[in-house]
Amino acid sequence: MTPSTVDLHSHSTASDGDHSASFVVELAAQRGVEVLALTDHDTLQGIAEAQATGAEHGVHVVAGIELSAKYSAGQCHLLAWLPSPVPEEFRVWTTSREIDRERRAEEMVRRLNEQGFEITWEDVRARAVGNLGRPHVADTLVAAGHCSDRSDAFDRLIGRGCSAYVESGKVAPEAAIERAVAAGALVSLAHPYTLELEGQPLSDFVARLAAAGLGALEAHRGDQDAARQAEYCALAERHGLLASAGSDFHALALEGGARGKRKLGRTGTPGLSPEARERLLSRLPGVPASLVR
Ligand SMILES: [Zn+2]
Ligand SMILES: [Zn+2]
Repeated sequence: MTPSTVDLHSHSTASDGDHSASFVVELAAQRGVEVLALTDHDTLQGIAEAQATGAEHGVHVVAGIELSAKYSAGQCHLLAWLPSPVPEEFRVWTTSREIDRERRAEEMVRRLNEQGFEITWEDVRARAVGNLGRPHVADTLVAAGHCSDRSDAFDRLIGRGCSAYVESGKVAPEAAIERAVAAGALVSLAHPYTLELEGQPLSDFVARLAAAGLGALEAHRGDQDAARQAEYCALAERHGLLASAGSDFHALALEGGARGKRKLGRTGTPGLSPEARERLLSRLPGVPASLVR
């Protein structure tokens, strides 16, 4: 995999990543990334720190967020890259969604307790540096010896349809896109494969989102082979979308393991062409002209 100078999908401890926002940006600088978006799940909490570190280390940090949208089959995640400073109305909206996430996790803990799984809300809370989510509930279950690992916790207890699962207050993808676009964002459909759609149904779904204002599709990822990239580039083109590139980096520890393809700064081979890079960066809010070419 060849390194890319553009990585528009990364996570820090503000959501479920292992490292602080400043660490992620320093690592990006070491790896030659020029434009990095920090896109923590449903929170902007790491952005200020990431941008301050970026200014010190010569990395342009785009304010980003990965929004989880309501979707029944698999997962629908949307990357929104926003202007800096992020418009107040959007910021307030994300904060209210963070509060919803906490209430949901709290309710899951209550249900787990009812079912005899002894974990405390304080334990769960202590595990989340930033935005709290189900992975933190899962980790608490593992630490308490109730589950063997995160997947076991999701499969048996807190995954969709399981006994302690609580429905989230997610918004429809179209509504999330419209809200982000109203704040001046460029929005990309992250890892389209998690929609669990192929062929025409996938194309129809993308058409729906494009009509709502979707601007890009994550065609280039370190965990996608060349054939998949070509398929997604064609899909993007069919719907008038840009192809975007991101590593979905979460942790150094995961870079070498079984899920070892989410390396910061690695967005697959062949990755973004110079022309596609220029098209993408010229549409991203706030990228200086000197970095576009
Ligand atoms: Zn995602
Ligand atoms: Zn992600």
